[in-house]
Amino acid sequence: MAEKSETPILDELEKGPWPSHVTELKKTGYKGLLALYEQIYQDKMTHWAHGGMVGVPGYDAGVIGRVSDRPDILKDAHTFRIIEPAAWFYKTEYLRKICDTWEKYGSGLMNLHGATGDLQLIGIKTENMVPCFNEFAQIGFDLGGSAGDIRTMSCCVGPARCEFSCIDTLAIYQELTMSYLDEMHRPRFPYKFKIKISGCPNDGVAATARSDLAIIGTWRDSIRIDQEEVRKYASAGLNINDVCAKCPTEALEWNGTELKLNADDCVRCMHCINKMPKALRPGIDKGATILIGGRARGRYGAFLAWVLVPFMKVNPPYTELKDLIKKIVEWWDENGRTKERVGETIYRFGMGRFLRAVGLPAVPQQIIRPRANPFWFYWPGEVK
Ligand code: SF4
Repeated sequence: MAEKSETPILDELEKGPWPSHVTELKKTGYKGLLALYEQIYQDKMTHWAHGGMVGVPGYDAGVIGRVSDRPDILKDAHTFRIIEPAAWFYKTEYLRKICDTWEKYGSGLMNLHGATGDLQLIGIKTENMVPCFNEFAQIGFDLGGSAGDIRTMSCCVGPARCEFSCIDTLAIYQELTMSYLDEMHRPRFPYKFKIKISGCPNDGVAATARSDLAIIGTWRDSIRIDQEEVRKYASAGLNINDVCAKCPTEALEWNGTELKLNADDCVRCMHCINKMPKALRPGIDKGATILIGGRARGRYGAFLAWVLVPFMKVNPPYTELKDLIKKIVEWWDENGRTKERVGETIYRFGMGRFLRAVGLPAVPQQIIRPRANPFWFYWPGEVK
């Protein structure tokens, strides 16, 4: 007779052709977690309770405390957040070291990667945290952000693998991470502050929707067009008129032999470049658009980020970018309420007041319809 399963409800989640996280959990041999998980389903209520602050000495962030109200099944299973390498490039040698260390001290269960970007290691007991952290430090990894701090950043592969990247996302990520390590390890802000870096307006890391400060590669001059390649696309069957029709600003025109672009109207959406990557390329004068205030959820709902600086050159040592981040964070730290993201603070104060405070001019790219909303209020002399 078949042995009775200890997790009959979880077993249901293993059925079907798709991968199952329960199967993966079972492979870790982390019986306490499975038993608690089963209990949660049986009781139809969570048994995870708030565990207060847990951490390792010298750090106030980077460990997410998880304790249960059923210590008879499982007492604690904290999460380690580890700062990932730029664009998630790991040498296999280091991945092996991470796995070995995590199997030694933790559950062996990993999440590559969390929504913020970090490497999330799930399930460690309180007494194992310090030796585990020490071993990670020896390998060369550090804890990431959590709570009201500058969170671990993330960036797309950028120029490492993409010829359309307009900025060196990896270098910017590395520089900002090293510059704000203190702010990542010691929460002191009203709430989280996420920075994400995308190499082009395709926005591979969803910076516009998922970060408080989005740095997105763009160009200031005109898209480069190879007319011969455009004609090849046309003879291969691509409907160029359709590509032009979907340009949001009607900046393109195709006369059957030549593609014309009104560069002043182009809003750098990448649609035409995505459709004809061999024929069209971003311009030569490259930099970044800086956006502010995006987030997936919050007290006023989800916000897409607002354009703050339409174009900024972002080259080492990134002084202009860092100065701007410093001003933004200082203003928000001074004016933000507890648990208020920077976008919500701006929403409460109005964009005009925010721009005056950080010393940025009001520019047309920040707004679609002027004078329609008091949120966007400027005196005539302030508009460039
Ligand atoms: Fe139009 Fe977008 Fe192409 Fe610019 S990038 S020309 S806005 S489709």
